Formats: sequence, C-alpha cells, structure tokens
Amino acid sequence: MKTLKIAIQKSGRLNEKSVELLKNCGLNFENYKSSLISPVSNFPLEILFLRDDDIPEYVQDGIADLGIVGENVIEETEVKVNYLQRLGFGKCSLKIAVPNNNSITKLEQLNGKSIATTYPVILGKFLKNQGIQADIRTISGSVEISPGLGLADAICDLVSTGGTLKSNGLVPFSDVMSSEAVLICNESNCESDLIKELVQRIQSVLRAKETKYVVLNVHRDNLNDVIALLPGVKSPSVVPLAEDNWVAVHTVIPERDFWDRISQLKQAGAQGIVVMPIEKIIL
Ligand code: ATP
Ligand code: MG
Repeated sequence: MKTLKIAIQKSGRLNEKSVELLKNCGLNFENYKSSLISPVSNFPLEILFLRDDDIPEYVQDGIADLGIVGENVIEETEVKVNYLQRLGFGKCSLKIAVPNNNSITKLEQLNGKSIATTYPVILGKFLKNQGIQADIRTISGSVEISPGLGLADAICDLVSTGGTLKSNGLVPFSDVMSSEAVLICNESNCESDLIKELVQRIQSVLRAKETKYVVLNVHRDNLNDVIALLPGVKSPSVVPLAEDNWVAVHTVIPERDFWDRISQLKQAGAQGIVVMPIEKIIL
C-alpha cells in the first residue's frame, strides 16, 4: 500500500495544534524538531515538517498528498489544491490597519496611499475589487512597525487578538479576509481509501471537541421535560437508578450552547450533572 505524506508546519503557530490533531487521531510518531520527515508507526503515513509558505505548493505538486495550513497562505500562493476540512484552529483575520492618530476612516481614503504587507496577492485583489489604487509595499516581516518608521501609511497584516496592532499604535480599519487552518489535498488524489480513512478520523476528533458527554439524574416525573432539552447523537440513554423512580440520563451536548442547556436542565429537574470530555465520535 502506498504511504501517504502529510505536510505540516515545522514550527510556529500551527505546529502544536497540527501535531495534537494527528496524535488525537491515534497516529504514533515522533515530533522531531531536527528532521524533515517523521514516519507514523501505526498508519501508512509520513509527516513532513515544512515552512508554512511551502506547504500549498508541495501539495499542489504532489510531493505531499495532504497538508495542514492557513487559508491565508493558500490564497497568497494561488495554488490549485482541494479543501478537505476546516480544522477550527489558527483562526485569524487579514486586516488593514492605520495609525491611531490618522484621519483615515473610509476605504476610498487609501487611494494614493502606501500599504505595507506580507500578503501582496490577497491585498492586491482586495484593493482591485474595491476600486482602490494604493501602493502595495511588500515586506517580509515586522509589518506593524512600518508606519512608525515612515515606510507606509497603512499596513495589511494578520490579526488574532489585536494586541500587536494596539501596542504599535495601530487600529484595524478594514477586514480583507478571515482564515483558519484547513486540511488540503492534491487535486488528483483526494479519493483514496487511505485519505478517506484519515479524514474520517480527523472529523471524529473535531466532532468530539465540539461536544461534551453529560450524565445527569432525574426523577421519572421530570424525564420528558429533560429529554426535550437534549439533542444527543441519536436519543439519550436512560438508565434506572437504585432509588425507585430515578434514572440517569446519558447524552452529548454541543459545547457552544453548553451553559444555556445546563441551566435549562437544572430548571427542568436535572440533578448531579456530570460533564466529561469526549475523545472521539464515530458516526
Ligand atoms: P513559517 O516559519 O512556517 O514560515 P510563519 O512565521 O510564516 O511560519 P506563523 O506566524 O507561525 O507563520 O503563522 C502561521 C499561521 O498561523 C498563519 O499563516 C495564520 O494562518 C495563522 N495565524 C493565526 N493567528 C495568527 C496571528 N495572530 N498572526 C499570524 N498568523 C496567525
Ligand atoms: Mg511562513
């Protein structure tokens, strides 16, 4: 059987979460910092550790079958690859920001101005769409200091919390794109059984992350009210307790509406609510 290759970031913001995701899929490998390739001992897969900028091209050219990389890098490198799965980490936005003492409040005011960025392709397309003619200054890093140095009037850079912008006296002004880490594959090889198996494992880990396993006790008189509040994978399991007319209800709840549900469940008569993390959900 052909061994698959997946390219992930060697070090940086996506490395840890990419490694964690693959390990949570039950894949056994060493996270070597010094080597480029790490074999997986219990799945026909090799992990390639690369600069994130190189990942889309490696996948496009078929050197790697799969890759984990930010959407921003894919857009910037303009490669042709297939998206298999959004991964829910590495979330950030590419934003235009201006010095906070600046009078620029509308996009049109960027006409004739200079904007420093490491994302000239994405920014160029955005400005063209908006009908703005600005001078794009492509630099390779530390974009946020360029207005202070007099290099540019504005910047276009990735922002997650906005802390770096703020500490450099910049305010975000316009959203250019939002991004997160995604799983990509080579266009001509997305359908193999091995890839499908790996994608299924990844999806089961992602689903589990979004949900909690909940066990609660309830008197039979209140059981229907409690069940009405529970989504569950199919329907909740109901197990009798030693005490007459009391049951334990087992189910899963999406993390996002977790606290709302818990208070509603308590109001409906649920007691002794235990919440546990889930490792995998296989549908
Ligand atoms: P490499 O050495 O691999 O080229 P890098 O310095 O280009 O790394 P990182 O800063 O590690 O890249 O960021 C990797 C990815 O993390 C980005 O391309 C983006 O998708 C995502 N990301 C999430 N939040 C941020 C943020 N606040 N700033 C920059 N990137 C972010
Ligand atoms: Mg990079």
